[in-house]
Amino acid sequence: MVTRVREDAQGVPAGIVREVQNFIAGSWQAVEAAGVAGARSATEPVYNPASGEVIARTPLSPASEVNRAVVAASEAFPHWSALPVAARTDVLFRFRGLLAEHVEELAALVTLENGKDLKDARGEVRRGLEVVDFACGMPTLLMGETVRNVAQGIDNVSYRFPLGVVAAITPFNFPFMVPLWTLPIAIGAGNTYILKPSERTPLSALRIVDLLQEAGLPQGVVNIVNGAKDVVDGILDHPGIKAVSFVGSQPVAEYVYRRGAAHNKRVQALSGAKNSMIVMPDADLAPTLDTVMSAVFGNAGERCLAGSVLVAVGEIADPLVDALTTRASAMKVGPGSEPDSELTPLIRESHRERVRGYIDLGEQEGATVAVDGRTPPREDGFFLGPTLLDHVTPEMRVAREEIFGPVLSIVRVKDLDEAIAFVNGSRFGNACSLFTRSGSAARVFRERAGAGMLGINVGVAAPMAFFPFNGIKDSFYGDLHVTGKDGVRFFTENRVEIMRWFS
Ligand code: NAD
Repeated sequence: MVTRVREDAQGVPAGIVREVQNFIAGSWQAVEAAGVAGARSATEPVYNPASGEVIARTPLSPASEVNRAVVAASEAFPHWSALPVAARTDVLFRFRGLLAEHVEELAALVTLENGKDLKDARGEVRRGLEVVDFACGMPTLLMGETVRNVAQGIDNVSYRFPLGVVAAITPFNFPFMVPLWTLPIAIGAGNTYILKPSERTPLSALRIVDLLQEAGLPQGVVNIVNGAKDVVDGILDHPGIKAVSFVGSQPVAEYVYRRGAAHNKRVQALSGAKNSMIVMPDADLAPTLDTVMSAVFGNAGERCLAGSVLVAVGEIADPLVDALTTRASAMKVGPGSEPDSELTPLIRESHRERVRGYIDLGEQEGATVAVDGRTPPREDGFFLGPTLLDHVTPEMRVAREEIFGPVLSIVRVKDLDEAIAFVNGSRFGNACSLFTRSGSAARVFRERAGAGMLGINVGVAAPMAFFPFNGIKDSFYGDLHVTGKDGVRFFTENRVEIMRWFS
């Protein structure tokens, strides 16, 4: 039984399967089946997507484990929330230092359990670290407002208070960064925290907890309950949890939002996406091509900001599609741990089948399969080749639904108006990019394109941690987004005080 995962990243001998444990009240604990003393809970296999081997097993905890975590987090809350904010950020500063020391090891762990390449994994670690940087500024972020003398001799002030016990439920595709979208802000603001990582990629979160402990975090402030739907429902229904942050697919995001709100919780639910990249006839072809290739095929398309639709405007369509066809056909498919791999594996076999099903569907709907990745280019792992679906039309499902794989749908339109109408017809509104040399086209795009994160000559429009991660429409359920000042507001509540001193 190995739960410390430093060794995992650096290569525990093949064949050792790690049993993942929960982390509650400062200690690692094996999970028992509900109501059966001494019997272990059911588990979900964790694969190395590049080899297909099982590397760990995630316990499918019963909801009673959530209750144990809530008890631990509730006990930790009075002390943690009463600490001076600078004492809390002391821990975050130390944590930040440890993360910076361990970037390579953490990136290798992300590659091991998720499959993305090391360059992307390092980027993920840096993006997570950036949120810790942001949260280290909590003394300033928590400042309230004041107005003196609102009436004769009366002053009005507001303070930000932590909520209590809060929880986060995270997806497989950014196992390190997404937990850190919320954890440092939530605890920096004085809350105590329960994390339910993706059962498909639980290892990075365990390592985060190791480093938090090393940084001196008191017990019970951060807890991990591993599992799937039972744990999610346990979190949503538990009266002791005040707020839930969710990141994952659209149907589950909507479900989490509704069920959490029905239990009077504050909920933010980041959801699925279908992001368009509009390429104007005046775009600079060579850098646009590089950017589009990386936005489509980076992390095998398993990104909520993946550019999954190319909207080619006017005469640029033919040269662009020709160049993309040449580039995609020559891609090197291989494991993320090998530096020359250009396309890495999908998370598991069932997802590979789902993506392949979408390519079949696109063909049936009448799209041209310009590059066909359906035959896996390798025997090992969950690889799929790159696919380009050309002549996709707006009503096709491959133009509208999230595929979450290395598949680009190409829609040809006559002008920017038609491109924006296509974008605005989508139920999703995570990101959208425009490639152009025209400032005026960029301005029209900014004013009218219905997405919450806009990229201009940028393929993956990911905001920095001091801005909100800003999906709209069905890409987000809630009011306050993760990260930036929204993130601080989500994990705090205002108290307003009005005072008069008799002289
Ligand atoms: P997912 O919805 O399958 O899982 C997310 C979390 O929900 C996991 O912790 C999982 O255990 C839990 N879950 C799954 N099914 C559930 C159910 N029926 N009831 C209750 N809980 C359930 O998502 P995923 O496949 O892990 O992640 C990929 C999805 O996440 C994509 O749709 C992607 O666009 C989205 N995503 C969105 C953002 C964003 O910022 N909008 C960021 C990253 C990922």
